[in-house]
Amino acid sequence: MKAKINEIFSSVQGEGAFVGYKQLFIRFCDCNLNCDYCDTEFENGIEYTPDKLYEKITSDYNLNTFHSVSLTGGEPLLSVNFLAEFLRICKSNDFPIIYLETNATLADELIKVKPYIDIISADIKLKSATGLDTKGLHDRFFVQCAGIETFVKIVFDENITNDEIVSCCKMAQKYNFPLILQPKMLGDKMSVTSEFCTEILDKFTSNYLNTRLIPQVHKFLNLR
Ligand code: SF4
Repeated sequence: MKAKINEIFSSVQGEGAFVGYKQLFIRFCDCNLNCDYCDTEFENGIEYTPDKLYEKITSDYNLNTFHSVSLTGGEPLLSVNFLAEFLRICKSNDFPIIYLETNATLADELIKVKPYIDIISADIKLKSATGLDTKGLHDRFFVQCAGIETFVKIVFDENITNDEIVSCCKMAQKYNFPLILQPKMLGDKMSVTSEFCTEILDKFTSNYLNTRLIPQVHKFLNLR
């Protein structure tokens, strides 16, 4: 059983509710979506078995110095059988917190690794940004997040609609998770104005108060 890993690196979490924490990132190859704002290179990588990946990270890094290990991509849940075995090894060896970054569309896959995941950074993908209606997939996914600390990111640009805002807020109310609004970036600059961001935040908070506006901080810090 193998998975293709694009890169392994130490950095600072630049998005969402755990922004600023030092993490070890393990980036998986491949994704089941094709978002128009995606700026992540995840196609090429090296194949590892679960044992070999565990050996690699424990020999190259002092895991005691990290807040958590981020499984990111691409979409890590596409490698679910690999992940289940890798995480089983990790958890039987006093590993740090496991933090899953996911596009929140693969509920059946999440079920298989759920016992090993401590924090989920999930996305709601807006149709105005991806061209895809993934609402039903997100709904199924969030049911499975019960019992795991979860927050939800929403990347938005000038095309976000009022219907999308209301729909996201209804979903957040249903599952009671924090929402993080993240303006789409163009390089290291926001694609929308500060005024537009606060206007969108106001629209969200008038429907759902537990909403925050947090841009991609690692881009301002000039970090990966
Ligand atoms: S889900 Fe994430 S990794 Fe996949 S295409 Fe969209 S932004 Fe890129």
